[in-house]
Amino acid sequence: MKNSELLRRSLAAVWHPCTQMKQHAGGELPMIPVARGEGAWLYDFDGRRYLDAISSWWVNLFGHANPRINAALREQLDELEHVILAGFTHRPVVELSERLSALAGGTLGHCFFASDGASATEIALKMSFHSWRNRGLEKKQGFLCLEGGYHGETVGALAVTDVAIFKDAYAPLVRAAATVPSPDARKARDGETPADVARRTAAELERYLAEHHETLAAFIVEPLIQCASGMVMYDPEYLRLARALCDRYQVHLICDEIAVGCGRTGSFFAHEQAGIRPDFLCLSKGISGGYLPLSIVLTTDAIYEAFYDDATARGFLHSHSYTGNALACCAALATLDIFAADRVLVENQARAVKLAAMLAPLAERPYVRNIRQRGMIAAFDVDTADAGFSRRFYRAALDRETLLRPIGTTVYVMPPYIVDDEEIAHLGRSIAGALEDALPA
Ligand SMILES: *Cc1c(COP(=O)(O)O)cnc(C)c1O
Repeated sequence: MKNSELLRRSLAAVWHPCTQMKQHAGGELPMIPVARGEGAWLYDFDGRRYLDAISSWWVNLFGHANPRINAALREQLDELEHVILAGFTHRPVVELSERLSALAGGTLGHCFFASDGASATEIALKMSFHSWRNRGLEKKQGFLCLEGGYHGETVGALAVTDVAIFKDAYAPLVRAAATVPSPDARKARDGETPADVARRTAAELERYLAEHHETLAAFIVEPLIQCASGMVMYDPEYLRLARALCDRYQVHLICDEIAVGCGRTGSFFAHEQAGIRPDFLCLSKGISGGYLPLSIVLTTDAIYEAFYDDATARGFLHSHSYTGNALACCAALATLDIFAADRVLVENQARAVKLAAMLAPLAERPYVRNIRQRGMIAAFDVDTADAGFSRRFYRAALDRETLLRPIGTTVYVMPPYIVDDEEIAHLGRSIAGALEDALPA
């Protein structure tokens, strides 16, 4: 296979996601053929390489073609690839449920399985609503989300996604949830700390809950970082206050850790940094190490018991063909094994310090704003009115052997947890150079 042949056939036959296809056809955006991956690197058919600094859309934790995950999957292939999960069960799905519940401190003892993040969101929304209904609180039908929140793009998940570029075209189809202001730390007024912003915005949350709690089923948040709307970071104080308010007003708290879970923010789950537990926890992306589509909704005994009944219709009947797929669960178990064996969270502390040091010199550039970081996610904003910035930066980074996809004018890095010093240095050079290329002097 040659690069050129694969590109031609891909543009003819594959409808690529999150893409205006005409930009590829017109040559404005390159299409990158990938022949193979190894560690943090992707290679094309000519041996040209790219450092995968965004973990292939935030999913890859331990590198491409990871030998340990590969070996586990090979073994699983010979045992069981998949089996219906209604009425049947298997070792990987049981072990994964037990281990995730243990990681969540034993408070979220029931795991429901799907394949993508948007479905996990929808499952949590359906479960929340249905559990209130089963308890006779039928008026609790509404949902609340944060401004700029992102929870997936199926029609149901778009209800709680507040990102215009993904939502506006489908607005007539969507039963939009209410939004409350984001605790975005960049909104600090003179003298305010990020915790002050959290308290100020939590007061607005309280006003909303006080008025609407009787018709509200759940409040859904991305703990600590609203990734898709531009790595918007906020203080854990907001989660502490939101948890207390949700308890006071009888509203479920859904933590969508699809992007920020699995060690991204420094703790295994992001919500741990606020010392709280949610009523629902959504996981996907990194949980399978970036190998296979898998999502999981964890919930409490109390919610599980609201469905436990003689009547079939009071059960949670959501069905999905590939639920609990054995190979995907096996990849997740192998991923959790690596966390345990390699003390990944501890090792990542040193890695995060190196990422910070790599970005620090950028602060001197007059157009760089709000350098921010939590664990293995770091970002900064570029002060430019140029709508073409993000595409030009993307291209310029590719020219420097690096995969980086700015969100608007926010440049971010979210590398796999295996990047070494040399790769971090490469990343630093690529960012510095791509900024110069993308912002003509
Ligand atoms: C990516 C993402 C989703 C959606 O996951 P998909 O697998 O792309 O459907 C939901 N919530 C958050 C926070 C995400 O980052």
